[in-house]
Amino acid sequence: MEKRQELYAGKAKSVFATDDPDRLILHFRDDTSAFDGRRMESLARKGKVNNRFNAFIMGKLAEAGIPTHFEELLSDTECVVKNLDMLPVECVVRNIAAGSLVKTLGVEEGSELDPPTFQLFLKNDELHDPMINESLAETFGWATPEQLAEMKALTFRVNEVLKQLFADGGLLLVDYKLEFGVFQGQIVLGDEFSPDGCRLWDAETREKLDKDRFRQGLGGVIEAYEEVGRRIGVSFD
Ligand code: ADP
Ligand code: UDP
Repeated sequence: MEKRQELYAGKAKSVFATDDPDRLILHFRDDTSAFDGRRMESLARKGKVNNRFNAFIMGKLAEAGIPTHFEELLSDTECVVKNLDMLPVECVVRNIAAGSLVKTLGVEEGSELDPPTFQLFLKNDELHDPMINESLAETFGWATPEQLAEMKALTFRVNEVLKQLFADGGLLLVDYKLEFGVFQGQIVLGDEFSPDGCRLWDAETREKLDKDRFRQGLGGVIEAYEEVGRRIGVSFD
C-alpha cells in the first residue's frame, strides 16, 4: 500500500489517499481541540494512544458484527481504513447525563438515563454542531430515513458491546459520538472511537478519564487515556 497526497487535515487527524481508491490512511496527530476548534493544544503521545485505542475498539466492534472502516494498523500513529462517503451527522448515545444535555435541558450531571437517549448533531464547526433531528436530516439531504434508522440501530448496538467492555474495566461509559459513512452501499462506522469522543468515568469515584480533563483544564489528559486503555486491555507498547 502506497501513501499518497494529504486529502484533508482535520483538528486531530489527517487523511491521506493511497494507491487504492477504496483505502485511506488516517494519521492520528498529537493535536487536541475543544470548543469547536477554538482551543488547540499538542499533547505528547496522544496520536499513538488514540490510534492504538481506536484499533482495539474497532476490533471489538467488528468481532460483535458491527461493520467498521478499520482495516489495519500501519504505524504507531497511522491506520488503513476503507474510504467512506462520510455523512455529516454525529450520532450520540447517552447512558448518564453530562455535557450539553446538562447545559441545554438542566438535567443534573450524573443522573442515569433509562432508557439511554439518542441524539443527532450536524457536523459543522462554524454552526457549533447544532442538534438536529431525522426530519431536518431528510429534508436537507444529510442522510436518508433508511440511513438514519441504520445509524441509530448500530449506535445502540455499539452501546451494548462497549458498556460491558468498559464495565469490566471498572468504568462507566457515560456517552459517546459516532460518525458513519457509506461504502459500497452499506452504512459503515467511520472516524474513531477514543476518549476524545466519549465520556468515561471511574465506576467507584466517578473521576473523569476522558477529554473533559482537557476541556475543563484538569490536567493528566493522556495519562487518563492510558489508564483507561490499560484497564480494558489496550497495548501501548
Ligand atoms: P474534524 O474533521 O472534526 O476536525 P478529524 O481531525 O478527526 O476531525 O479529521 C478526520 C476526518 O476524516 C473527519 O472529517 C472524518 O469525518 C473523516 N473520516 C474519518 N474516517 C473516514 C473514512 N473512513 N473515510 C473518509 N473520511 C473519514
Ligand atoms: N462529542 C464529540 N465531538 C463533538 C461533539 C461531541 O466527540 O463534536 C462527544 C463528546 O465527547 C461526548 C458526546 O459526544 O462524549 C456528547 O457530547 P455533548 O453533546 O455533551 O457535547 P459537549 O458538551 O461535549 O460539547
